[in-house]
Amino acid sequence: MNAALFPPPAVCRAEDDRLTRALEAADARVRLGAATPDFDQAAFAAELRDFDFEQPRPLSGLCDWTIAQLEHGIVHMTHPRYLGLFNPAPSLPARAADRIVATFNPQLATATTSPAAVAIEAHVIQALARRAGLPETAGGHFTSGGSEANATALVCALTHAAPAFAEHGARAFPGPPVFYISADSHLAWIKLAHAAGIGRAAARLIPTDGQGRMSIAALERTIAADRAAGAVPFMVVATAGTTNAGAIDPLFECRRVAQECWLHVDAAWGGALIASDTLRPLLAGIEAADSITIDAHKWFATTMGCGMIIVARPAILPATFDVRTTYMPSHTPSADPYLTSLQWSRRFMGLRLFLALGAAGWPGYARHIERAVTLARRLAAGLTRRGWHVVNDPALAVLCARPPETAPAVSEIVAAVLATGQAWLSKAVFEGHDVIRACITHGQTTEADIDLVIDLLAPPIEAKPSVPGV
Ligand SMILES: *Cc1c(COP(=O)(O)O)cnc(C)c1O
Repeated sequence: MNAALFPPPAVCRAEDDRLTRALEAADARVRLGAATPDFDQAAFAAELRDFDFEQPRPLSGLCDWTIAQLEHGIVHMTHPRYLGLFNPAPSLPARAADRIVATFNPQLATATTSPAAVAIEAHVIQALARRAGLPETAGGHFTSGGSEANATALVCALTHAAPAFAEHGARAFPGPPVFYISADSHLAWIKLAHAAGIGRAAARLIPTDGQGRMSIAALERTIAADRAAGAVPFMVVATAGTTNAGAIDPLFECRRVAQECWLHVDAAWGGALIASDTLRPLLAGIEAADSITIDAHKWFATTMGCGMIIVARPAILPATFDVRTTYMPSHTPSADPYLTSLQWSRRFMGLRLFLALGAAGWPGYARHIERAVTLARRLAAGLTRRGWHVVNDPALAVLCARPPETAPAVSEIVAAVLATGQAWLSKAVFEGHDVIRACITHGQTTEADIDLVIDLLAPPIEAKPSVPGV
C-alpha cells in the first residue's frame, strides 16, 4: 500500500483539516485582493519544470504550492468585482456536493451501480423541465457543460431528422444537412458541426436584428434559399441569453419558422430565469422547444463543469446513444445514463444543483437572479449618468455600454481597469460596435462594488479646485 496515495485515516483527517484552513485563508485573501492575475510567468515555468516526478514530495507542500499558483495565476471568479463571462463564484452547497462526490466517487454510467445517485440527477432534471414548462414526459441528463449539451442536441436533431444518420452519417440525407444559429450565438456550434461530421459550413449564421437577436426575416430567407439549393434544414437554434449581450432570440417566431425542424433553445446562461416568477416571462416560448441547454455552472452558481440537456421527447436519447456491450452490469435504456448520453463513466455532477436547490429553494434562486439584474441596472444607470451609451437591455444581468466619444477606446479602458486589479470585465462587439461587457455573476457583489466599477470605467469629473477668497 502506497502511503502517499492512501494514507491511514488519521493522516487523511490531518491533511483534510489543514487543506480546509489553507483554502479558507486563500479564499479570504482573493476576495480582498486583485481580481486579475499578478503572475511571474518565468518563475512559475521554472518551478513547474522542476516537477520531474522522480522523487516524491509531501502533499501538504504540493497543496500549498498549488494554492499559491492559483491565488496569483488566474482571473478570480470568486472576486466580487469579477464581472465576467458567465462563470460564477460557486455556491456553498455546490462545493459541499463536490466534497461528498469526491469521497464516494460513484460511477453514474448505470442505474444498477448507483441507483440513488442516478435517481437524484433524474429528479433534478425533471424539476427543471417542469419549471421550464416542458411536457411531463421530458427527460435529459447532466453534462460537462453547455457545449456537451449542445453537442447532444445536435446529434439528436440529426438522428431525429434522418434515422439512417445513425448508420450512415451525413450520407443519410438527400442533400447537405444544415442548421441555423444567430451570428451572436455561442460559436462552439461551428466546431460541434465539424465534430458531428456534417462540416462547419452546415452551421448557417443568421444576422442579428440590430438588438443582438436573430433576425427572423433573414432566417426565413436563408431556410428558403437553402431548401431551393437542395440542402436539408434540420434544426433551428434559438439562443436565450447571448454571450455578448444576454439577448434572447424570438422564441415563438423561431418555433414557427422551424416548422418540422428540431428547435433547440440554448439557454446556458439565461435558463436560470425559470427560477424567478417575475423574470420567467422573458423565456416565454421555451416550453415549445424540442431540447434546451441550461448550465448549472453559470447563473445557478455551481462549480464547473455542470451543464444540462433537457429533451421534450427523450426517446431520441437512447435512439442516438444506445450501445450493446458484454461488460456493463445492465442495459436499460430508460435508466442507464451510458445509453442516453455522450459520456460513459460519469461523475455525480447533478448533486451540486440538487443540494443548491434544496438549500435555497426556487425562491432563494429567484432572489439570486433578480439581485444580479438589479445590480446590472444600477451599473447601467451609473454609466448613463456619466455620459455613456448603454446599448442593450441588461435584463439578463449582462450590460453592454459604449463610452462617450471623448473617452479612450474601449480596449484601452478595459486594459486600464484590469491593470488596477480592482475588477475584471471585458470588451465585446455588439451590433458592430466595440462595447465594454460586464455581467453580474457573483452572488455577493454589492452596490458598493458596482459603484466602484462605475468610478473605474468613468472617473467622475474632478471638482474644480476652489480658490480661496474668490
Ligand atoms: C457558456 C455557453 C455555452 C458553452 O457552454 P460551456 O458550459 O462553456 O461548455 C454555449 N452556449 C451559450 C449560450 C453559453 O452561454
